[in-house]
Amino acid sequence: MESKKKRILSGMRPTGKLHIGHYVGALENWINLQQEYENYHLIADYHVLTTNLNSDSIYQDSIDMLIDWLASGLDPVISPMFRQSQIKEHTELHLIFSMLVTVNRLERNPTVKDQVRDLNIENVIYGHLGYPVLQAADILLYKGDLVPVGEDQVPHIEITREIARKFNNQYGVVFPEPEPKLTAFARLSGLDGDAKMSKSLGNTILLSDDEETIKTKLKKAKTDPQKMRKNDPGRPEVCLVFSYHKKFTPNEIPEIEAGCRSGALGCVDCKMKCSANISSFISPILEKRKYYESHQDEVKNILADGEARAKKVAQATMQEVREKMKLG
Ligand code: ATP
Ligand code: MG
Repeated sequence: MESKKKRILSGMRPTGKLHIGHYVGALENWINLQQEYENYHLIADYHVLTTNLNSDSIYQDSIDMLIDWLASGLDPVISPMFRQSQIKEHTELHLIFSMLVTVNRLERNPTVKDQVRDLNIENVIYGHLGYPVLQAADILLYKGDLVPVGEDQVPHIEITREIARKFNNQYGVVFPEPEPKLTAFARLSGLDGDAKMSKSLGNTILLSDDEETIKTKLKKAKTDPQKMRKNDPGRPEVCLVFSYHKKFTPNEIPEIEAGCRSGALGCVDCKMKCSANISSFISPILEKRKYYESHQDEVKNILADGEARAKKVAQATMQEVREKMKLG
């Protein structure tokens, strides 16, 4: 019997161990919505090439990211997880979609513009410009209705919607117009105060960091520059650590806010409380991570199973696409 549930499709690039920004911005929604929706999760191993042509560890990085997902609570029985590179329909649909979007539209994409700036990229490759076109293929191949992502990805979902609309108008309806789904922390700031916690900016707390590491990182975190000494009054609204408390100490926000404003709560104590709470949030993930790290064969079987299930869906959609386009 065919499932009546709506579909989720969302993915991540395997560019190293995941950080808490990935978790609070996207992964948490994947986990929370996996009963209500039919979830498909993609390891975007082709998308890695847009910023790192030289990686010699894409496969191992993919396995490591899968371990992060499983340790965080994604259930492989209900949510297939698979690599983009292993299902050739992604590249096929990408090629077709590249005919349905203008170069001008892609050049206006703010997400690629930000990446080019952050990574000091001088010569933008064609594949980088086409990043959201491949992403549209990733989503629409599985007819994703909902795409839980961080805020930086919203422009890409808009391009996906435009491509779906264009295809449906041109050839007949095959695709839904997917909606982005944001969490309350859709853009978690980095430890240096930068607007986005990001691997490439080196300002992250990893889901695999132990207690000591988190403490050391928190000690260096940016706070209100006007609060120099313990008794100085502070401004929580400009403090990075306060923004982390909102997520990791949700039940004590009024006390922390009042203590900071009056000066009674010093930054050192405030940071230690924050680091303890982040650690207790991460600790069950670390435990599960240990299990999967020592059962890598199980992880590889989970991937093979996810890829077999995803492939069936992808092939069925491509069959529909070819029929609508009269490709025979
Ligand atoms: P990084 O720059 O750390 O490698 P990324 O943005 O390249 O991260 P992606 O694989 O593109 O990582 O994104 C994975 C998902 O995590 C996306 O939905 C993205 O929006 C989300 N995400 C990444 N960083 C953050 C953040 N700091 N706050 C909220 N969501 C985030
Ligand atoms: Mg990444």
